[in-house]
Amino acid sequence: DLYNIVQDLKGNIRVYCRIRPVFNDEAGSIVDFIGQDDSLAISDPSKPQSEGRKIFNFNKVFGPTCSQNDIYADIQPLIRSVMDGYNVCIFAYGQTGSGKTHTMSCPSGGSSEEDMGISHLALNDLFRLSNMRKDDAEYEIQVHMVEIYNEQVRDLLAEDSANTKFEICSADGGSMSLSDATMHSVKSTADVIRLMKLGDDNRVISSSTALNDRSSRSHSILTVQVSGKEISGCTLQSCLHFVDLAGSSERVENPEEAMYINKSLSCLGDVITALAQKNSHIPYRNSKLTLLLQDSLSPGGRTKTLMFAHINPERDSFAETISTLKFAQRVS
Ligand code: ADP
Ligand code: MG
Repeated sequence: DLYNIVQDLKGNIRVYCRIRPVFNDEAGSIVDFIGQDDSLAISDPSKPQSEGRKIFNFNKVFGPTCSQNDIYADIQPLIRSVMDGYNVCIFAYGQTGSGKTHTMSCPSGGSSEEDMGISHLALNDLFRLSNMRKDDAEYEIQVHMVEIYNEQVRDLLAEDSANTKFEICSADGGSMSLSDATMHSVKSTADVIRLMKLGDDNRVISSSTALNDRSSRSHSILTVQVSGKEISGCTLQSCLHFVDLAGSSERVENPEEAMYINKSLSCLGDVITALAQKNSHIPYRNSKLTLLLQDSLSPGGRTKTLMFAHINPERDSFAETISTLKFAQRVS
């Protein structure tokens, strides 16, 4: 339909910015204005306003009053394209505390409908669609969840997750996939929420040090795989990945962790930039993250990518906000 065509014209790679609300009123906001929903101005708190202002443009900017539903309404066509055979990757980028997990899943522990993140809203929608189409096609929805920490990949939903590390399989040296991860068949969003909780628990158990910070220092990937079989005999298999990236903080104290985080985030940036520029060489091999998602980040194919750059608009996050916006600008 027309709406989808218009969405398609926007291209297969989109970069959005989401601004978290200010929680500390005294901190004030460094966001001067949001223009036409696709640009924002940041002012350097240490300079007079006329000198310290920088403007950034994105496909879309969501201000601090935007709700989860506002965001979902915008990306719904993207999610629905999974049912038409597209592989879709959604990334949440930003410093720790900027709202990545809030956007992707639900707020910590909370389960109010109101605040459900986009992965939950997307699953509701996919289940609803597959029900609606059930006279013409049969769909199976499966999920898996993995974590990448210091370039090691772990299956978060494996039987003995804490001890299960898997290396990426390389069938015939060519395509690499997440296919070794434990797949769980799901019938409802509630099934997935339960599994996600299990996965989150497994993330924590294995981190003897820095218990709370583990989740901000690793990437987590929730993959929803849709397999469909139409009455006509046509089959479809596609994936939707929700990637909650490690915090892009410059303040990570452990230098080894910081090195791995920075390296994998910059590799991701290189891959998305290469895709956007339609380069012939896409450097997937430089990080586990890009290697694992290779099939869903391929040029020209039926793939779509959306990056949410999250910013915390409070004054003392100025340096990190600028660095997030520069990263996001580079890939857009
Ligand atoms: P991150 O995953 O980037 O470290 P979180 O998603 O955990 O950050 O967000 C940090 C805190 O801010 C959480 O308490 C979260 O609920 C809150 N928060 C983040 N974004 C929003 C938002 N858009 N509206 C309301 N609260 C938010
Ligand atoms: Mg988080």
